[in-house]
Amino acid sequence: RAPFDVHAVRRDFPILAERVNGRPLIWLDNAATTQKPQAVIDRLAHFYAHENSNIHRAAHELAARATDAYEAARQKVARFLGASSVEEIIFVRGATEAINLVAQSWGRQHIGKDDEIIVSHLEHHANIVPWQMLAAEKGAKLRVIPVDDSGQIRLDEYQKLLNERTRLVAVTQVSNALGTVVPVQQVVELGHRAGACVLIDGAQAVSHLRVNLQQLGADFYVFSGHKVFGPTGIGVVYGKREILEATQPWQGGGNMIQDVTFEKTVYHGAPARFEAGTGNIADAVGLGAALDYLERIGLENVARYEHDLLAYATQGLRTVPGLHLIGTAADKTSVASFVLDGYKTEEVGKLLNQDGIAVRAGHHCAQPILRRFGVEATVRPSLAFYNTCEEVDVLIASLHRLAAAAGRRR
Ligand code: PMP
Repeated sequence: RAPFDVHAVRRDFPILAERVNGRPLIWLDNAATTQKPQAVIDRLAHFYAHENSNIHRAAHELAARATDAYEAARQKVARFLGASSVEEIIFVRGATEAINLVAQSWGRQHIGKDDEIIVSHLEHHANIVPWQMLAAEKGAKLRVIPVDDSGQIRLDEYQKLLNERTRLVAVTQVSNALGTVVPVQQVVELGHRAGACVLIDGAQAVSHLRVNLQQLGADFYVFSGHKVFGPTGIGVVYGKREILEATQPWQGGGNMIQDVTFEKTVYHGAPARFEAGTGNIADAVGLGAALDYLERIGLENVARYEHDLLAYATQGLRTVPGLHLIGTAADKTSVASFVLDGYKTEEVGKLLNQDGIAVRAGHHCAQPILRRFGVEATVRPSLAFYNTCEEVDVLIASLHRLAAAAGRRR
């Protein structure tokens, strides 16, 4: 097909034909979760119809099929991220579990009393709370990179925070609340220069931007399958091979061992040592199908299309009286966050739902950054490559009606 045909793409996503309150569904809650193409739905059904088995342990045919499918998915993830080997890819439940894994394995091993962990003011709670818990356990300190008034992190302040006690820098690539694209290449390079390890939270990045970990050089990179058109319940930790090999496991159990006696257990190498128990086999396979699908569309096409769509949406939102955009960084992707005079954010969410429009209204699990801008909640339309200018037009028209009604209420 042509480089990027949004109407053809939309036909790949059956749910986009749903109706809500008598209107065509307009799914603008992609930062919370993305919809699934038929290719992913079919892959899951195929797995359960033809391949289902536990993996790695049996001599029989279905175990071989399931193991092959699962390991092929790991290879797809490695290729998608530009990892240097499949051993660097660990399957987990999602970005939250991924960060907790790093905190509870590598973190416990390497972070001690008076050590420092740097996060940014933009972080999702999933990239704050696990570090806070670790810091409390170890007597370490959490330091925060401030943001400027556009919602971009301040690299000058970051440089001042880095010192010989900095063990880890954990920063998001894209803010889920504001859409800011953080200059993670510089974050990694400056962190490394100070001798720190760097974790990048890619949960909001991988569906919008091409990631190449060999170029980025991050020590850890995490994301969730469900935000990149794959199933829920599956996510990824990338870790540099030499780091993973030197890191103690997190959870103990089956699959992660080479030999067990009551006296002593010998663990497998990575990634098996970090995948105790029966994993989310089918959903890993489904994630592989999602990444294949996304590669067929082409992330470069996605990025170009979404850039224009976000500019179009931002321009439209600026025409709504009493609407205040929060987060105006020069480099943004796919998220617009705003408050509307005369309305609570939840009210806006409910009223838009009456028009078939799904947006998130709330704190987006990122309370510190919203409070930095003096609010407790925002309305957050978030885009994916299957959204259209026509859908944005419906959103803007609905908001104009709400703004006019607010004027009458006052
Ligand atoms: N980090 C960011 C930036 C996110 O947006 C999210 C999900 N909103 C997470 C981490 C956590 O992802 P999950 O809930 O899928 O574990």
